[in-house]
Amino acid sequence: MSSKHPKKAPAKALALFDIDGTLLRRAGHHHKLALIESVRLATGCAVTLDDIPTQGMLDCDLLRLLLSQAGLPGPQIEAKLPELIGTAQELYLSGSSDDLRSTVCPGVVFLLAELVRHGIATGLVTGNLSAIGWRKMELAGLRSHFMFGAFAEHGETRAALAALAIQEARRTSIVSGTAQISLIGDHPNDIRAARANGIRSIATATGLSTRAELLAEHPDILVDDLTELALEQLL
Ligand SMILES: [Mg+2]
Repeated sequence: MSSKHPKKAPAKALALFDIDGTLLRRAGHHHKLALIESVRLATGCAVTLDDIPTQGMLDCDLLRLLLSQAGLPGPQIEAKLPELIGTAQELYLSGSSDDLRSTVCPGVVFLLAELVRHGIATGLVTGNLSAIGWRKMELAGLRSHFMFGAFAEHGETRAALAALAIQEARRTSIVSGTAQISLIGDHPNDIRAARANGIRSIATATGLSTRAELLAEHPDILVDDLTELALEQLL
């Protein structure tokens, strides 16, 4: 969790964004390699994410699955995790320099510019580890749009991450206590995390989840992509 303490008045609304499938699509290649390689370095075992549906999951849970695939028992998995969280981030930072601007989802650049123009605050709530998430934003040319974020290593569930982001936004007066807060994501887990925190859920069908899968979770708003999202829907 990191945030700049704003000097201006608290924003009237806050939009929290998931990264993969929501802001970016198919930006996960080096990310997956970093998780896999961190487990190989720690255990000597070749592991794979090929049969694991990674969407909507937190990186720490993916690392746990990979360590279990490598044959480590539960207590050893938890003991190894902090080291792997560090290694995976270092590997991503040193291994990924791809320009990710072509992976930015439709409507994202325009929407983020509109949010700034109308004084709506923005943050990240993502299952990415923090160094990986921030680096992706940088490589996609979106880094300057985000004031703060909650990342995989900050909580056990996506709902816990959303709660942390909300708490941080209020603590640092990024938003007032009464501001409208929305969580925008591409997966049923994002919708559930919004509901668990009593905030507005906005689902975008730009990830791997279908419209039907998203609708089944009853999001407050469902769009095909973020070109369809109107600013008023965040207020
Ligand atoms: Mg996602």
